[in-house]
Amino acid sequence: MKIVAVDVMIIEAEAPANRARCRPVYCRIHTDEGIYGDGEASVMMMTGAPAAFSMLKDLSGQIIGLDPLDNEVILEKLHRNTYFAINGGPIVQSAFSAIDIALWDIKGKVFNVPVYKLLGGKLYDNLRCYASQINYGWGMLQSDAVTPEEYAARAREAVAQGYDAVKADFFELDAQGYPMSAKARTGILPESYLKVVEARVAAVREAMGDGDIIAECHGYTDTVSAAQIADCIREYRIAYLEEPNMSFYPTVKKLDEQAGMRLAAGERLYSRKDYLPFIQNQALQVLQPDIGNCGGITETRKIADLASVYDIGIQLHCAGSPLCLAASLHLEAVLPNFLIHEHCCVQERDYVRKLAKYDYQPVNGRIAIPELPGIGNELSDYTLSRCKKVTVK
Ligand code: MG
Repeated sequence: MKIVAVDVMIIEAEAPANRARCRPVYCRIHTDEGIYGDGEASVMMMTGAPAAFSMLKDLSGQIIGLDPLDNEVILEKLHRNTYFAINGGPIVQSAFSAIDIALWDIKGKVFNVPVYKLLGGKLYDNLRCYASQINYGWGMLQSDAVTPEEYAARAREAVAQGYDAVKADFFELDAQGYPMSAKARTGILPESYLKVVEARVAAVREAMGDGDIIAECHGYTDTVSAAQIADCIREYRIAYLEEPNMSFYPTVKKLDEQAGMRLAAGERLYSRKDYLPFIQNQALQVLQPDIGNCGGITETRKIADLASVYDIGIQLHCAGSPLCLAASLHLEAVLPNFLIHEHCCVQERDYVRKLAKYDYQPVNGRIAIPELPGIGNELSDYTLSRCKKVTVK
């Protein structure tokens, strides 16, 4: 079996004007036996998508003629041949991810089994989910939360759908709803703003009852401000604090010593090498690798296995399109150290759901593992007819 062509695609999703620009990047790898596999480079939000598209195009020429079942061989070859990108980073690793996911998709279709079978078999039939980023709107409430009551209303919306865990960024907007500047979220925070944050967290705790709360910082706070935030929200029993500072080992370790709560990070770490100090020194209690930007199913499995040695849990960062979602479910299903599945607010919105053929959504807060051969999803006619596409042969 040989790879004969790779379609590299980018599409401008129809995100509402008040939402971040959304440009998913995909590849479809074709074989000489007519079987194809789809993969995604998960840098669809904000910046980087055109770079990932170009990188994917650049790399695709190197895999023509190779056996798609040799996914480790292909990734090793690509890794060794990237020259300036050999040390990783989001763009090259997201391009690797798209290729790796597409190769697993092909492999599943060749052997006529879901990818989780090839990974060793699923430990779970369905996964507990949390409603992620509810502050950007959830369910019927599709606007940013600003007041404590608005935060609580979005949490109640998720609970009504059957979720018993939510995540919110409590620190992005000021009390009037204006974005906090990068400067304003670092260093020593004023007491007045800490009170705004605490009131939002308290309202969500009230709404969630015994449910779990994850507090998201998006890497915008720093070691000093995140320690203050931890002090003021600790009593509300936060499951974990996500990306409280940049994922730089010495500062994360420092915060881990001070925060008095579990820390999570990973969407900005791109390989085993990036994760290793956090794992070996147990500076994070939850790792959040993104299957679409840290090397695909293959590399993410290796990161998760390393973490399992140190009793560190895995919650894949899952904020890509339905292709990354499907690939993530297969991997999460086989991990003994899997914690909880992230169902991001964008994944319940129509402009993202229609990008792929199948629409996997949680029911009563749990999501089923796809049972179709391969990753169990592929690009929709909508995407194929509207994307910008380059075919590499
Ligand atoms: Mg995050």
